[in-house]
Amino acid sequence: MARLVMKFGGTSLADVGRIAHVARHVKREAQAGHEVVVVVSAMSGATDALVRLTSEASALHDAREYDVVVATGEQVTAGLLAITLQGLGVSARSWLGWQIAIRTDGTHGGARITDIEAGDLIARFADGQVAIVAGFQGVGPDNRVTTLGRGGSDGSAVALAAAIQADRCDIYTDVDGVYTADPRIVPGAGRIARISYEEMLEMASLGARVLQTRSVEMAMVHQVRLQVRSSFEDPEAPASRYDHQPAAGTLVCDEDEIVEKQIVSGIAYSKDEAKVTLVKVADKPGVAARIFGPLARAGINVDMIVQNVSDDGKHTDLTFTVPENDLDKALDVIRSARKEIGYNDLVGSTNVVKISVIGIGMRSHAGVAATMFKALADKAINIQAITTSEIKVSVLIDSDYTELAARVLHTAYGLDSPDG
Ligand code: ASP
Ligand code: MG
Repeated sequence: MARLVMKFGGTSLADVGRIAHVARHVKREAQAGHEVVVVVSAMSGATDALVRLTSEASALHDAREYDVVVATGEQVTAGLLAITLQGLGVSARSWLGWQIAIRTDGTHGGARITDIEAGDLIARFADGQVAIVAGFQGVGPDNRVTTLGRGGSDGSAVALAAAIQADRCDIYTDVDGVYTADPRIVPGAGRIARISYEEMLEMASLGARVLQTRSVEMAMVHQVRLQVRSSFEDPEAPASRYDHQPAAGTLVCDEDEIVEKQIVSGIAYSKDEAKVTLVKVADKPGVAARIFGPLARAGINVDMIVQNVSDDGKHTDLTFTVPENDLDKALDVIRSARKEIGYNDLVGSTNVVKISVIGIGMRSHAGVAATMFKALADKAINIQAITTSEIKVSVLIDSDYTELAARVLHTAYGLDSPDG
């Protein structure tokens, strides 16, 4: 017998028919004698619709009331799944965040879970009851409803798994796992059987949208093993497919559980990048502080930074990247500090993409970056900026080359799968 959290996303719960399919997955685990907590998202599109309603009601609305509205999507699916399970003869009960209680801080619209009182749920396992928990929501310090930020039901699932000390947290979604690259642009991409928390964190924050970034952080801290798998599979397929068989999804786990550490496990790309260049900045001490100080104070996250070699010993060009949404704000900040900084011209552009290769094996291997640069050079793809970390090398390139670069790198690191 194991203790499991099963989380289902919005596309898996899109209508009553899909919910019936999910119920069969839950029934399988309950009948196998496992203690089960299910976490549900809202039906796909439901949260977006609720968010729109709050803006229609008033463009400037009270964040506490926003949470009251947008949290309702999960109440619907939790109730419907409990009803469906009962119809299948499975004992099930729905739970809203405040009923458990899932306690959070008071940051409405983006709250963090601080504590979960899971005693009641655990007590009911003795009677074989399955708990169906509305994801994405909790209760704040003032006892008002809070929500955890978009995609937050992944976080609900991980936090619950930590609280009940689950053996595993299964994240059922519309893809059958985490891939070595986006399969829509890299035909040879294949499913990764095991990936470490750290690698997943990089992949998630770089736009592999399988898991919410914050939930991966939480899983890493609490050592919750996550199995990403498809809800579209046949719920009654042979049981072995649902244990740790390679056939079922991707296990996100501690790197100690990964025997064969890949030098590069995956390639990720992020289009949410913008490039800012200051042309002819004075090349003297203090200039960087005068540029990046005001940006930091404006809450703008600078990622990659490149400073060119100075030709004349007096001037240099300086380039950095910011999230695309922050480009206008960043340009404004630099313009207002023009006097103090001193530069000839300011250029912003959004037709750039950041491509990264990620792998924990990089720590103990040289030449990973060199392979990347050579592969791109062979295709005449120009690198505009570079950053590296212990387990990642990222380059900034022209966004027109996104697909080509991703494919070329996928091949260069031997990731192409034979059946891809
Ligand atoms: N329903 C919420 C959203 O769409 C939470 C989730 O699906 O994880 O953001
Ligand atoms: Mg999601």
